[in-house]
Amino acid sequence: MLEKFHHFQCQAELYYAFHFIQRFTDDPFTSLLPESIFNIARFLLHSTTKVVPPGISKVKILSVLAKQSRALGAYKLARFCYDQLLTLQIPPALQDSVELGSLTILSKPFKDNDDLIPMCYRCSSNNPLFNSQGHVCVNCHQPFVYSFSSFGWERKKLWPSDFHWVGSGSRNMAALE
Ligand SMILES: [Zn+2]
Repeated sequence: MLEKFHHFQCQAELYYAFHFIQRFTDDPFTSLLPESIFNIARFLLHSTTKVVPPGISKVKILSVLAKQSRALGAYKLARFCYDQLLTLQIPPALQDSVELGSLTILSKPFKDNDDLIPMCYRCSSNNPLFNSQGHVCVNCHQPFVYSFSSFGWERKKLWPSDFHWVGSGSRNMAALE
């Protein structure tokens, strides 16, 4: 029963995240930040390395990630996306932009913007933007937990200043941010 729950929860997360990618490709405007789209596409890319659920398009994920990576300066990841895209069957509507993108990305430096590099909060090591093993640290294998509000990777902080004591006799009312 728990396995089934975990399976359906993962599927629900994937479809929820892919909804934003679909909207980004179909709608002319988006209210999301470029970094959010970038992180959503990264989350989906990591989650669909083995199995792609029905209705989720790997071509759309990779084309959005390639576009956002280029815009944010993650040229190494953009090259990886274009290389992956060229191995897939691309719809005619995307063919020209993918071919042009895969050529023009060669003029960019083979590196990623340092501001985007994820850091592991457990062992403080820098991680690549794509890890073929999944959403885990390459050094200590600690899973990255994505926040579904911003699609960044976050850690709950537990500082004394985050506790708010309520009443003089109450000892267990602690509110975290
Ligand atoms: Zn680590």
